[in-house]
Amino acid sequence: VHPDDSLVHALRRVVWEAPERTALAYFDGRLDYRAVDDLSDSVAGYLAGRGVARRDRVAVLLQNSPQFVLAVLGAWKAGAIVVPVNPMYKAGEVAHVLRDGEVAALICSDRAWESYLRDTAADSPVHTVLTACELDFQSTGDPRVLGFERLPRASDADDLTEVARAGHPAPDGRDPEPGETALISYTSGTSGAPKGATNTHANIMHNAERQRAGLELPEPPVYFAMAPLFHITGMVCQLGACLNSAGTLVLAYRFEAGVVLDAFAAHRPHYTVGPSTAFMALAAHPGVTRDHFASFEVISSGGAPLPPALVEKFRAGFGPYIRNGYGLTECTAPCAAVPPGRESPVDPVSGTLAVGVPGPDTVVRIVDERGADVPFGEQGEIVVRGPQVVPGYWRRPDATAETFPDGELRTGDIGFMDAQGWLYVVDRKKDMINASGFKVWPREVEDVLYTHPAVREAAVVGVPDGYRGETVKAYISLRPGATADPGELAAYCAERLAAYKYPRQVEILPDLPKTASGKILRRELRSRSRVSE
Ligand code: ATP
Repeated sequence: VHPDDSLVHALRRVVWEAPERTALAYFDGRLDYRAVDDLSDSVAGYLAGRGVARRDRVAVLLQNSPQFVLAVLGAWKAGAIVVPVNPMYKAGEVAHVLRDGEVAALICSDRAWESYLRDTAADSPVHTVLTACELDFQSTGDPRVLGFERLPRASDADDLTEVARAGHPAPDGRDPEPGETALISYTSGTSGAPKGATNTHANIMHNAERQRAGLELPEPPVYFAMAPLFHITGMVCQLGACLNSAGTLVLAYRFEAGVVLDAFAAHRPHYTVGPSTAFMALAAHPGVTRDHFASFEVISSGGAPLPPALVEKFRAGFGPYIRNGYGLTECTAPCAAVPPGRESPVDPVSGTLAVGVPGPDTVVRIVDERGADVPFGEQGEIVVRGPQVVPGYWRRPDATAETFPDGELRTGDIGFMDAQGWLYVVDRKKDMINASGFKVWPREVEDVLYTHPAVREAAVVGVPDGYRGETVKAYISLRPGATADPGELAAYCAERLAAYKYPRQVEILPDLPKTASGKILRRELRSRSRVSE
């Protein structure tokens, strides 16, 4: 067991050991560990002063900036639960999270507040709002990335930078306990609206520690935050592992290949993690050189299939080996990874790269339809038991019972295990679409399509895409007498859903294929789109 039982305690340990070490680097700005501790104390003191109580929810809707880190640590020091929200979300998607999570305080960018969150929050349980200008923390920012000017301070919200610098003392006795919920991470699902996985502090520390131990990085380690911190992989494998190993976390707002390469050159990071498409984008960027990657020994890919050819091409062209990793939000990011010094084998039959070996204290089983173990090499559903598996979903006993029978996570992924213990992911039982690591659940897109007056039937599937792996396609039938063209229906969804969710392709059919009982045959639509490729 690692001596720190939460990232708050990990932070305090580093402040004790090395207060002047750089904790966060953001363009030309830096914050050392003492500053991060003091500034997040002040955020905690402010939140507590505004009535945010232990276990109240604080939503954080920010990009990879120092403010994100101060908001999260400040909320935890106030004893609160953090609800990370994707800044790409549109008003309706955020509104659901604020209501379902019964969120008390919202920390977001001033731009998002001005453009749409003021109205969204007005109709929600939120009673405290902090806005942040992600440009101004010890940094001049980089206009190429941020793409907006500093807005005048909103008169109806307090400013995160001012609050952090105000020197409020952190409230006493609010330190998180390991078994308490640290995050409510919203993920969608086959049925109904997105639900929140409750990652505990112990879940996070377990994976942050596994990640640290699995990397043999120089001292002090420099991590680059390529994955977004609002996503569980970024939170745990970047922020968590970095704090846990007293490292420096380099932040660059959001992924933009040229900016990322500049940050590599300026900060010489040792480690990063991202989806395979991010590595493809970096490799294809004009001006990329082998030297950009000279400080890395290994980088990790997770969240989506990693083609073996990409790993070899990347190593030949740039040097580092890309390590595969497998996980879900429900197991706090990784549950299987490639051990140090080893490389994933490729299955000769399917050509799939192994995702890794389950951690030493994690039990991964492959089961058949009845839940019985299948022999090595045979395919079945992957189920996971271990200290990173969340206790369940926020206020959803039914969904919890279904996904976590006896505390074991049913992943909905199809895979197999070889006799050496390597795990392979080959398919999915669930309907989820994986567009370069961004997860899209057909039901959520269909629900939006059904609100369009011309739509009679809607079915959304993933279709193969050379770059993203999969892309979102909607099949539609129209109400009698109604007219609508595919472009109009796509635009209708784009207004209401985050950019990665709306259907890039829409096809209108006279009727959708159905079973005898009237259920739309998604599988048939999927194979139809593969044939027409
Ligand atoms: P990770 O922790 O690996 O980054 P994630 O944080 O993206 O995963 P979710 O957004 O919950 O977590 O998505 C989990 C799903 O992503 C899995 O159920 C699986 O279908 C897919 N997935 C994750 N890692 C891999 C991988 N290495 N290869 C293939 N599919 C993967």
